[in-house]
Amino acid sequence: MLAAALAAGAALALGGCGGGSGTAKASSGDGRSAARPHSASASPRPSSRSLSPSPSSSDSGPASDSASKGRPLAGRTVVIDPGHNIHNADHTTEINKLVEMGDGKKPCDTTGTSTNGGYSEASFTLDVSRRVEKILEAAGAKVVLTQNGGRSWGPCVDERAAIGNKAHADAAISIHADGSNAAGAHGFHVILPGRVHSSVANTGPILAPSGVLGRDIRAAFAHTTGSSPANYIGDGSGLVTRTDLGGLDLSTVPKVFLECGNMRNATESRNFTSPVWRQKAAEGVASGLTAFLTRSTG
Ligand SMILES: [Zn+2]
Repeated sequence: MLAAALAAGAALALGGCGGGSGTAKASSGDGRSAARPHSASASPRPSSRSLSPSPSSSDSGPASDSASKGRPLAGRTVVIDPGHNIHNADHTTEINKLVEMGDGKKPCDTTGTSTNGGYSEASFTLDVSRRVEKILEAAGAKVVLTQNGGRSWGPCVDERAAIGNKAHADAAISIHADGSNAAGAHGFHVILPGRVHSSVANTGPILAPSGVLGRDIRAAFAHTTGSSPANYIGDGSGLVTRTDLGGLDLSTVPKVFLECGNMRNATESRNFTSPVWRQKAAEGVASGLTAFLTRSTG
């Protein structure tokens, strides 16, 4: 969905990603106003690679200390959710189908946004996710991607969450980029799950660990990319809590969304289209996940 034509508005019906939704909202609330279809779902066909190679670092005695330093994530499972799908725009009927999320029904998935030059959010999220996967696998983690470019659309948001749940992920992250047209809007933000309790969702148990994960991601991403927290949402904190994203509401494992910046911002659009910057972004995500996972391991 190329929102060049939609530029004017806050509600990029087709593309808007994340919390920005075009209006310069400096709120760290749960973003009800931004209730827009998002992504984040899962599918029963995870593109798991890395059935972790033999945990050689964890099977020996005290001498394994140095080995485990080389593979600090051995035995851990991470689910990475590349937001949207590059083919969603060709499957609007399928992605507009409503699915149950924590708090009602929402469309299966959305197309995502793009830079003004037409580089799509879905291309960006998939590229960064693959880079994160490589880094984490090298550190010994088992990594599952919710989609790896092989599907014609989706997965739906509920599926994206289900993949993380089914994998019993130690941490899950959904990678996105925002599409705010507010003048000067720039910066990244992490979206944390809010409290949702319904017949199909209960975020209570994941609120605290997701908060820790989100703060670890925020710190690491800022460090590796040099990016600032968003100036148009979250009061400059880089953190926003939302209850309207099925990918978070339906998660039973610690999970956050990362909006890596604003694709509509001219300066940041140069970042998104740069492989060098995307690698830095991936290193930030991997570093934040590693901090969280090694912290919880003790
Ligand atoms: Zn998105």
